[in-house]
This record gives sequence, C-alpha cells and structure tokens, in this order.
Amino acid sequence: MKTYKIALIKGDGIGPEIIDEATKVLDAVASCFDFDFKYEEVLMGGCAYDETGDPLPQETITAALNSDAVLFGAIGGEKWDNLPREKRPESGLLRFRKELGVYANLRPAVVYDELVNASSLKPEVVSGVDLMVVRELIGGIYFGEPKGRDENKGWNTMVYTKDEIVRIAHNAFNIAMERSKRVCSIDKANVLDVSQLWRETVEEVAKEYPDVELTHMYVDNAAMQLIRDPKQFDVMLTGNIFGDILSDEASMLSGSIGLLPSASVGAKIGVYEPIHGSAPDIAGQGIANPIATISSASMMLRYALGENEAADRIDAAVKRALKEGYRTQDLAQYDAKEVCSTSEMGSIIANY
Ligand code: ATP
Ligand code: MG
Repeated sequence: MKTYKIALIKGDGIGPEIIDEATKVLDAVASCFDFDFKYEEVLMGGCAYDETGDPLPQETITAALNSDAVLFGAIGGEKWDNLPREKRPESGLLRFRKELGVYANLRPAVVYDELVNASSLKPEVVSGVDLMVVRELIGGIYFGEPKGRDENKGWNTMVYTKDEIVRIAHNAFNIAMERSKRVCSIDKANVLDVSQLWRETVEEVAKEYPDVELTHMYVDNAAMQLIRDPKQFDVMLTGNIFGDILSDEASMLSGSIGLLPSASVGAKIGVYEPIHGSAPDIAGQGIANPIATISSASMMLRYALGENEAADRIDAAVKRALKEGYRTQDLAQYDAKEVCSTSEMGSIIANY
C-alpha cells in the first residue's frame, strides 16, 4: 500500500473548517483504493504569527518540501491587518509560493448544471461554462521592485522577464492542448510596456503550438466579456494581478466563490487550495462551503499524485451532492432541498 505525505496547512478563518472536510473526503476515497495519507500539519498565516512571530516558519517550508503535495486552506484576517507588511499573513503566503517556485496557478471555473440558477448571470449565459484561468503566480506587480510607501506616496512595480512569460505561456498552451485548444492571453498592452513584452512573447511561444488558436484581449474588455459571454473562453492566460481579479470574477459564474479549487504548480511540489480567502466574516459558524477545498484535494490527487480514478470519484461525489439538492448557505437561497453545514456537506460527499 502506498502512503502519500501531505503537508497540511489549515491557516486562519474558515481554513481549519474546510480542510477538515477535505481530509475527511480524502480518507474516505483512499479507503476505496490502495493508498492512504499521512498528514503533517504545519502553520502559516496569522496563526503562525501568533505562535512563532513569523507568518511563514521555516518548519512549514521544510514540511512542504518533504511532502508529496501541500493542501492549503486560507490565511489572513482583520486581526493581523495592521502588522508591518512582512509580518502579515499574506506576505507569508507570497513567500511560500516563491520558495516552492510554484509559478503557475490553475483555476478551473466550471458551472455545474445543477447550479445554473445560482449564478448571478442568466442560466443560458452560464450553462456549460468550462474555462481555465492560468495565472502567473510568483511575478508581476505583487513581487516587483521597487515597492514601498511613505506618508504621501505608495508604489509597486509590474515586472515580467521574458523567461517568466515563456514558462507560464507553455503551461497555458499545454493545458489548452488537453482541452478545446484555445488560449486567450489577457494583458493591457495598449497602456503597459510590460504587457507589450507579454504579448510579443506569448506570440513567439504560440508558434510551437500550431494546433492552438491564440487570441489577445485587454484586461478591461476581458472582465466585461467574462460576464457578457463566458463560453467564448477556454484557457485564459494572465499575469498575477489580472488573474487574481478575473478568477474571482469567474467564480461568480459558478454561483459561489466557495465552489472553486486551484492548483499552484510548476515546481517539484504543488500547492492545492480553494480560490477564496479565509472568510473571517463567516469563520467558526460551520456555514462555509467546503466544496472548493474538496475539489482542490481532487486536483491534488490528479496533478500531484496521479490518482485520476480517485479524483474522478471525488468530482462525481461533489456533483451528486449538488444534484441531490444539498446546499451550504452560500447557495441555499436559490434551490436548496436541504441546507447543510460545512461538516454535513463534507460527510455527504465522503459517504458517496
Ligand atoms: P483573499 O484576499 O484572501 O482572497 P478576500 O478578501 O478576497 O480574501 P474571501 O475570504 O475570499 O475574501 O471572502 C470573500 C467573500 O466570500 C466573503 O463574504 C466570504 O464570506 C465569502 N466566502 C469565501 N469563501 C467562502 C466559502 N468557502 N463559503 C462561503 N462563503 C465564502
Ligand atoms: Mg480574493
């Protein structure tokens, strides 16, 4: 029997609640196959700062590097908002991604047939949406120098090197090859110099993928098109900040940010996490939707561990729970047959 080592980072806010449901489902699915999991729980974010004075203790990086994959909840919250930037939970997460070198963030946005009425858009607009945002994760304005602030001025710099663009572009084209073979690269090339380089470089990489159709779109138009006609997109290739914003927007097509998973890959160890944050406004109430995290665990099985059958099984269980009308509160206002708590939803999915 194979044992997979998973570094488990629950984090802050709803992080612990949703991770507990994901491990419940992982253990249930493992019992049907010939593997199991050994979890090593480590700290990151506000909880890590409270305990150790550092939002990203070295022990966490070491545990991640010694694991087969990292399953991550969410970090941050008002409590830590006034700390100096390098002590803040978010800076721990940015450093973590950089340390591991996970430069490609994959965010599928799929609209479940059962939830077409939960979307903020008309059912006919969202029905059948199945797109993937490929977001560059460890470059761009979140990392560029110079950055800083004084009393009257704040500044950040959007920097991309050609190498960084080339590697994320390859990622997007390779993913497109497995899908509908269309890449839309998002930039602001009419205003930003860095975007001009982005566009030219993506064009160059595209020559190696003659079967994939490449289009370009300015980010402001993309934000609009995503709502007007989301089905036009297959793979959306974006830089760090544009991808952050567009993938939150894309999540609302599906009905709730609590549904969408992500995988951060490109290095030896991948990080699997929901796209949402720590949702301090609903933490501790047992009402968070665990599906984004459960689906992230499924992506982990697929991309990191190669356990595709087990991943399929989780995906099918999620669909079945929705089909049978189980809804957490974020989705309940539309068509719930039964409103369930975070842990009830986890158990329902685990028991299928
Ligand atoms: P971050 O900066 O970490 O992305 P954020 O400021 O974007 O965080 P989130 O924590 O993602 O904020 O929360 C945004 C909103 O979505 C909140 O109202 C929150 O309650 C809700 N939300 C987030 N995750 C879930 C979930 N799993 N289930 C239900 N509601 C959620
Ligand atoms: Mg967010």
